[in-house]
Amino acid sequence: MAYLSTDKVEHHFHDVVIIGAGGAGLRCALQLADARYRVAVVSKVLPTRSHTVAAQGGMNAALGNVTSDHWHWHMYDTIKGSDYLGDQDAIEYMCRAAPQLVRELEHQGVPFSRQDDGTIYQRPFGGQSREFGEGGQASRTCAAADRTGHAILHTMYQQNLRAGTHFYEEFFALDLITDEGGCQGVMAWDIANGQYHLFQAKAVILATGGAGRIFQTTTNAHICTGDGGALCLDAGLPVEDMEFYQFHPTGIADVGPLITEAVRGEGGYLLNSEGERFMQRYAPTAKDLASRDVVSRAIAIEIREGRGCGPKKDHALLKLDHLGEDLILKRLPNIHELALRFSGVDCTKEPIPVQPTAHYTMGGVPSNRFGEVVFTQGKDTETVMPGLYAIGEAACVSVHGANRLGGNSLLEIIVFGRACGNQVMKRLKAHRYHPKLDPDCWQPGVERIERWLSGSGERDKRIAQLRAEMQSVMQAHFSVYRTEDVMAEGVQHIETVAAQLQHAGIEDTNRLFNTELIEALELENLMALARVTAAGALARKESRGAHARDDYPERDDKTWMKHTLGRICDGKVELDYKPVRTRPMTVESFPPKKRVY
Ligand SMILES: Cc1cc2nc3c(=O)[nH]c(=O)nc-3n(C[C@H](O)[C@H](O)[C@H](O)COP(=O)(O)OP(=O)(O)OC[C@H]3O[C@@H](n4cnc5c(N)ncnc54)[C@H](O)[C@@H]3O)c2cc1C
Repeated sequence: MAYLSTDKVEHHFHDVVIIGAGGAGLRCALQLADARYRVAVVSKVLPTRSHTVAAQGGMNAALGNVTSDHWHWHMYDTIKGSDYLGDQDAIEYMCRAAPQLVRELEHQGVPFSRQDDGTIYQRPFGGQSREFGEGGQASRTCAAADRTGHAILHTMYQQNLRAGTHFYEEFFALDLITDEGGCQGVMAWDIANGQYHLFQAKAVILATGGAGRIFQTTTNAHICTGDGGALCLDAGLPVEDMEFYQFHPTGIADVGPLITEAVRGEGGYLLNSEGERFMQRYAPTAKDLASRDVVSRAIAIEIREGRGCGPKKDHALLKLDHLGEDLILKRLPNIHELALRFSGVDCTKEPIPVQPTAHYTMGGVPSNRFGEVVFTQGKDTETVMPGLYAIGEAACVSVHGANRLGGNSLLEIIVFGRACGNQVMKRLKAHRYHPKLDPDCWQPGVERIERWLSGSGERDKRIAQLRAEMQSVMQAHFSVYRTEDVMAEGVQHIETVAAQLQHAGIEDTNRLFNTELIEALELENLMALARVTAAGALARKESRGAHARDDYPERDDKTWMKHTLGRICDGKVELDYKPVRTRPMTVESFPPKKRVY
C-alpha cells in the first residue's frame, strides 16, 4: 500500500548517518567529521536534550590521581561487576583506553572538577577496588561536580559544530533500509514539518540510548524508549541480554529521579527505619559502595522485612547532612536541588527518602568492540551486519554483562563512539559510492506513520493508557526480585497489551508536531523490547547480576554463562543464546568466582 509518490520523500546522501545525538553519537560523529567525512546526525530531540545531559556522578578511568590505580584493576572490577557475563576483550579495550580518552575530553574542553594540585578530581564509586579486590577502595570516577554528563554532552556538541557535522534535529528514525548488501540508510520523519526523509549512507550507526521507559518508575528521560533495538527487531535482527535491567538503589522515593552514587562515594550512607546502617550486614567490606545490584536487593529486603521508612514503610533513607553544607554545595549541588524540588527535603539538614528505580539497559543491539552489529548465522555467532553499527546504551558490546558499574557508561559512550568512528572509516575507504536502492525501500517507513494518521485504529484505549499498563506490568512482574509464577503471568499480560496496541488508534491525525503520533511510535518500540525482556527473564533460570530470582538464588555458570538473543519472528518472541567472550585481548582471562563485596 503506497500512500505517497517518491517526490514527497526527500532523499539525502551522506557518508554516514548517526541516529542519536547523545554522548555516543556525538563522539562518533566528531571522529568522522574531523576526518572530513560527510556525517549526518539525526536526533528526535535537540542534541543537548539527550539523556547523557542528565548523567551526574562521573566517568571511570584509572588515572590514579587520588588513590593508586591501574587499568587492569578497573578491568577486574568491571568483569566482577558484570557477574562474569561481560565480554572480556571489550572490557580490556575499554579500561585500557579510559585514561587517554579522559585526558582527551579535558583538552576538548570538558570542565572537570579539580584537586588542589590541578589534576582531575576523582571520587570513589561502587565496586571499585585496588589490586584485584585485595587493596581496598579506589577513587576512579572523574567528575565535573555532579553534572558530568552535562559537561561532556555540551562539549561534544560544540566540537561537532566546529567540525561541520550536519544536524537533523527533531527527526524521528522510523525504519532501517536494508538489502542483500547490508544496511543502506534510514527512513525518518521530520516531527515539526510532518515530512518524510530518506537518508542514504554507507554506514548507519545506532546511538539511540536506553529503554528505561519500559518501567513505571525510572530515572530515565521520557525519550529513553529503546528505538534502536526496536529498529533492529523490526529488521529481523536480535537484541541481546535484555533481561538484565539495572535498578539504581537510590531513586527519589515515589517519583524516580536519580540521586547519584556519588553521594555515597563522598561519604553518604543508607539507613533503615531502625536507624541502622544496614549495608554493613550485606557487604561487610564495601558497605554502601557495593555494586548496584547488591545495594538494590539489600534495600528491597529491608522493605520486605518491615524495616522500610515512612508511613508506607516503602523506602530507605540516604543520609548525607554529616558531610557538611560546604561539601554538598561544592560537589553535589545538583543533588541538593533535586532533593529539594522532588521531595521537599533540604539534604544539608535531613536524609533523602530513596528506593530502587529502573535505571540502565545492560542489554541492547549485539555489537563487537568495533561497534559493528553482529548476529548468528549457522555456527558463527558473530557474523557482522555490513553497514550497521551500534554504540552507547543502545548497544550490548557487552562491557556491562549482567550488571553495570557506576561511571562505566559515560566511559563506554566515549570509548566505543571513537572506536566505531575509526572502524567506519575503514568501510568508507572500501565503499566509495552509494549503491542504487530498491525504488520502494521507503514504503515500510511511510506505512508506519500513515497507519496512525489514517485515523482508522480503535480508540477505546488511548496510547497513554496502554503505555501505563505496559509499564505497570513490567514494574510489578520484572522488578528487583523475580519468580517463575509472577514472571509467567507478566509475560501473558504483556502479550495482551501488545496485541491491543496493534489495533489502537490516535485522536490527533495532524501532521505538524504531532506528539501523540510520536508517543505511539515510541510505544511500539517499547512494547517490542518489553516483550523480549519479559521472555528472556522468564527463560533464564538462575540469579546473575541484576537478574535476581527467589526460586533460583544461585548463579549457574554451567548452564547459563551465555548471552540471550531475542528476536521477533512472525509476531512471536524467539530466544537463542551465544557464548560469552571470556578471552581478553592481551592479558589472562578472569575466571568466574563467587562475588562478594
Ligand atoms: C539520571 C541518569 C544519570 C546517569 N549518571 C551516570 C553517571 O554518572 N555515569 C555514567 O557513567 N553513566 C550515567 N548514566 C548513564 C549514561 O548517562 C547513559 O547510559 C549514556 O549517557 C547514554 O548515552 P547515549 O549516547 O548512548 O544515549 P542518549 O544520551 O540517551 O542519547 C540518545 C539519542 O538518541 C536519539 N534518538 C533515540 N531514538 C531516536 C529515534 N527514533 N530517532 C531519532 N533519534 C533518536 C535521542 O534524540 C538522543 O539524541 C546516567 C543515566 C541517567 C538516566
